[in-house]
Amino acid sequence: MALRFFNTYSREIEEFEPVDPTARPVRMYTCGPTVYSRAHIGNFRAYIFEDLLQRHLELRGYKVHRVMNITDVEDKTIRGAREASVPLQKFTEQFKDAFFEDARTLRIKRACASPAATDQRYVDRMIEMISALISKGLAYQADDKSVYFRINKFPDYGKLAHLDLTELQSTGRVKHDEYDKEHIGDFALWKAWDKADGDVNWDSPWGPGRPGWHIECSAMSMALLGDQIDIHCGGVDNIFPHHEAEIAQSEGVTGKKFVRYWLHCAHLLVDGQKMAKSLGNFYTVPDVLAKGYTGRELRYALLRVHYRVPLNFTWEGMNEARESLARIDEWLARLREIAKSGNLQHPTPSAQRRTTAFEDALDDDLNISAALGFLFESIRETNRAMDQNEMDSASASRWLDWWKRINTVLDLEAETDVAIPDDVVQLAQQRENARREKNWKRSDELREQISALGWDVRDTKHGPKLTRGAGSA
Ligand SMILES: [Zn+2]
Repeated sequence: MALRFFNTYSREIEEFEPVDPTARPVRMYTCGPTVYSRAHIGNFRAYIFEDLLQRHLELRGYKVHRVMNITDVEDKTIRGAREASVPLQKFTEQFKDAFFEDARTLRIKRACASPAATDQRYVDRMIEMISALISKGLAYQADDKSVYFRINKFPDYGKLAHLDLTELQSTGRVKHDEYDKEHIGDFALWKAWDKADGDVNWDSPWGPGRPGWHIECSAMSMALLGDQIDIHCGGVDNIFPHHEAEIAQSEGVTGKKFVRYWLHCAHLLVDGQKMAKSLGNFYTVPDVLAKGYTGRELRYALLRVHYRVPLNFTWEGMNEARESLARIDEWLARLREIAKSGNLQHPTPSAQRRTTAFEDALDDDLNISAALGFLFESIRETNRAMDQNEMDSASASRWLDWWKRINTVLDLEAETDVAIPDDVVQLAQQRENARREKNWKRSDELREQISALGWDVRDTKHGPKLTRGAGSA
């Protein structure tokens, strides 16, 4: 069966047909964090879903080119920097670093590119796009000097969220704080400088100011992935107005269909409630680690529920994750022992049968619960065969090979079981030599090669240290 996904745009399950998989990789854009505070585990649920999606596409033979932006300029980052009395970049840098650290802890593969919205190259692209929209009559500068998108001129506005424009006013889904707009739903493309912005501003044909949040994603997606992309993901919160606005901006400029498949991840609840600082149920990745859990356990807990179903996070669920992983660990240890033993006395045809059910389940709109159900059913069956001494070493090796394959998607193997491959060690050595010669460019290139192999190198007091990273395994 072919791969199929639920497309938010059509509200239907559709067969996945990328633009041209033989000539180019699957182009995927995922909205990244706004770096004004540490991301919470609800944010990471969406990033883990995107990680699962990318890894499954790769298991199915696609090459994936994924971009994830970093929003480092908007109201909250500016306010945070002002309150902390530090320059914007210094303020956002700490949360950017924290984000990548947490993503590493959760074994989320790093995107091919993580462009920052404040990068002048992309600001230039945003200004270009806004100019194009103005010249097409799709945008206008209002009396407050800001530039807005004219939603009445884009008939498809509201299609992704299945909203009627005339309803916008009454739904309360748009803010009423900008009175200079023609339509209450018109959204800012360029925000004119305001004294609260301090020194955060860029020059533009409309005066000093800063880009709106939505145009960032349209511009960076176009700059790095081209006019048309295959998959765009985010949390359900992003559907309106963010993704709706992205469609209007991108298609407004190019006249071409922007995204083929829109995939959105449902909310994370904590103890059945919405996560909120005021309720005391707001957790970051370090909060969970501080309770004695590992990144692998949290990865499992956030991964195991279908992405379109709200996930209820509980500490009991974390303990279940721990138990499930312990079962996998024990099973692998037993299989390894038998595989090593060379025991060929008990050929077991049953242990060789169907193993495609795992990936078939993921083909079905990433049905992870069914895939994991099959994994644990297989563990039960093979454990029984091992209990009865009916597993020979060749069958055990085959099960281990199968695990290796599905683990490229799950990435749930215990830390201690992962040996550092020779080529990674060699690259790290070469990098150390380059550093001694103060050849920083070469050293950076080698770090990227190491990262592409799934490892991160960190320079410590005791020399370079390699840890499992977010690249491909
Ligand atoms: Zn976005």
